[in-house]
Amino acid sequence: MKRLGLNTICAHVGQLKDEQFKGSVSPIYLSSSYEFLDVDVKRYPRYFNTPNQEHLAKKIAALEHTEAALIFGSGMAAISHMFFAFLQKGDHLVVQNTLYGGTVNFIKEEFPKYGIEYTFTNGYEVEDFEAAIKANTKLIHIETPSNPLLTITDIKAVVKLAKSKSILTSIDNTFASPVNQNPIDFGIDMVMHSATKYFGGHSDICAGAVAGKYEHIERIWNVSKNLGGSLSDMTVWMLERSMKTLGLRVKAQTNNAMKLAKWLQKHPKISKVYYPGLKSHPEHKLAKSQMKGFGAMLSFELTEDLDAYEFQKALQLIKPSMSLAGIESTVISPHLTSHALLTQEEREAVGISDQLIRFSVGIEAFKDLKKDINRAIAALA
Ligand code: PLP
Repeated sequence: MKRLGLNTICAHVGQLKDEQFKGSVSPIYLSSSYEFLDVDVKRYPRYFNTPNQEHLAKKIAALEHTEAALIFGSGMAAISHMFFAFLQKGDHLVVQNTLYGGTVNFIKEEFPKYGIEYTFTNGYEVEDFEAAIKANTKLIHIETPSNPLLTITDIKAVVKLAKSKSILTSIDNTFASPVNQNPIDFGIDMVMHSATKYFGGHSDICAGAVAGKYEHIERIWNVSKNLGGSLSDMTVWMLERSMKTLGLRVKAQTNNAMKLAKWLQKHPKISKVYYPGLKSHPEHKLAKSQMKGFGAMLSFELTEDLDAYEFQKALQLIKPSMSLAGIESTVISPHLTSHALLTQEEREAVGISDQLIRFSVGIEAFKDLKKDINRAIAALA
């Protein structure tokens, strides 16, 4: 069957029909209690099956080229429920070494309490994953492009390795979004998102999602209804509205990021730019083979004479801000925020320096973003 186009899925799939008044947008069903007599489905918000939850999940599944999805109260809820669904006492997880700091903390702090074993890879080449596999490995988790260094993992190669050993695979697809990358097309079993990021896109929603085959999503669901952590229908509705423009927003942001990365690369006060769209990126060719666009996240380092903290303070248009992926451009120091709980040695081992600034590129005019960066650099001189 031929798939609907990206923006058609964004605009229409999973829309709830307003049978009563024929309104053009989905009604919000706020009931936390539904009839149980003579019904096919017993609905309850914590069962992830209210009308709004169920329908938005269809949009997410369609965007990720798969069968089903679940929507959670945060990206961490999505990832933790997914891990707990496929890993139990005595099982082993292989996890990429370059990934979101919150995921690293979750694994290190929670897994020992449940007797789940894990190995962080030494790198992100397929050989690094192979070396980390043990007899009890049940899941391999990757993040590509990764937060904050935009490293690229070979999805197809990791999937091939995992399949040869009957190991399941999952990916954090937050940075690319389904606009720029569909890992299911390369054989990944589960795709998770911090929907707080591009899905929401306006820095006003905290949510998460996992998508995959019915059998895998059902297995997660069996855990999730025990743990709780579903998303309120009010927020589900807001997320549905936001996702109607996902394709438009992310494409505009991705175009801006490409232009900015090229410009920053030539800037005399920028010593390094991390962006998979640049030919100088070590995995540029690989990124080209598995991504539709290179995404709207990039990182850069200022030259040593400039203070990264003061630079961010001097920006006027681009906001120093905790999260990412909103339509407004934001910057952050990963060593002070997302990766603050890692030790200095751990950060250095993966290449996160104190000079590193992660840049979430928004939809603003390119010329205004350039001007703001130049103005902030000039203010430090
Ligand atoms: N994955 C990535 C790549 C992230 O950047 C984040 C948050 O920054 C998360 C997961 C966690 O998402 P949330 O903050 O919605 O729990």
